[in-house]
Amino acid sequence: MIEEYDALIIYCPQLGGEIPFRYCRTLNEDLPCRKIIVCWEFRIEISKFLGEHYSMEQIQHALTPPTKTRMDTILELIEKAKKVKEKTEE
Ligand code: SF4
Repeated sequence: MIEEYDALIIYCPQLGGEIPFRYCRTLNEDLPCRKIIVCWEFRIEISKFLGEHYSMEQIQHALTPPTKTRMDTILELIEKAKKVKEKTEE
């Protein structure tokens, strides 16, 4: 069952604190964190767990870093927002 490891605790380098496995497997729009393999490979059979509970598409979606294009888009939006703010403050 998917809740099998939910109560296991790990130190999360991103949050800087201890968190349960449940958080790691759900934080990415209900899919696993991108780092789940690195963080959990020495604690549980994480590859097996992912294979048993998620489709290949879900795993790919969850583990692939955001594309540069997406990041570029976000940066562009921030840049635009800043310009609008500057104009309104003039
Ligand atoms: S898998 Fe993600 S949320 Fe979980 S401990 Fe690692 S970095 Fe933190």
